[in-house]
Amino acid sequence: MFIFYSPLFWILALPGLVLGLFAQSRVKGAFNKYSKVRTHRNVTGAEVARTLLDAQGLYDVSIERTQGNLSDHYDPRSKVLRLSPAVHDQPSVAAAGVAAHEMGHALQDAGGYAALNLRSALVPAANLGSSLAPMIFMVGLFMDVLIKGTGLGYYISLLGVGLFGLAVLFTLITLPVEFDASKRAKKLLVSNGILFEDEMQGVNKVLDAAALTYVAAAVAAIGQLLYYVAILGGRRD
Ligand SMILES: [Zn+2]
Repeated sequence: MFIFYSPLFWILALPGLVLGLFAQSRVKGAFNKYSKVRTHRNVTGAEVARTLLDAQGLYDVSIERTQGNLSDHYDPRSKVLRLSPAVHDQPSVAAAGVAAHEMGHALQDAGGYAALNLRSALVPAANLGSSLAPMIFMVGLFMDVLIKGTGLGYYISLLGVGLFGLAVLFTLITLPVEFDASKRAKKLLVSNGILFEDEMQGVNKVLDAAALTYVAAAVAAIGQLLYYVAILGGRRD
């Protein structure tokens, strides 16, 4: 692909790429480290989530064990908290932090948190944007070269940029959703007496590193969008 030879591409893509790799290694490092630290109360991630959900009156939210590594998530459609084995089964500080974070999403859902609703509504458009938009953009560029003068290729590329903008919007609206879930988690872990203050450093390290991966995704998406805009700007007659 010709884009990989473009210095502009690398200037715009590199910050997100580097930050992403850095954040990924931070998450893995922090999770591995605090997976080995047992909580004083010796409760598993599943027990932490159940206790916090019940304390908030969210009895209808169920907890399932799912496969994979760091695959933990909350599914708002089926009201299920899915926790990976290392979180679900383990009485570690890392497991407590991740379980409480996912519980934070369930709490957002129950409270009608606006950013979460907007994020959920954007999922189909964002998926379409991130998968199809680069292709539509390229097709527009080629058409611009093949059939000059009609301007049709330009508008097809513009459509691609617009679609990709929805994917960027999704990565941006994800930020307050993730930050808020972690904020709720940290607060409730202490106020419900699940973790003690001296255990919160580990929770902070794990959740803050996870938050950084979302920042990296947003930076990468913005970089890609700017690259498309720059190319399109250069093409316009
Ligand atoms: Zn989250």
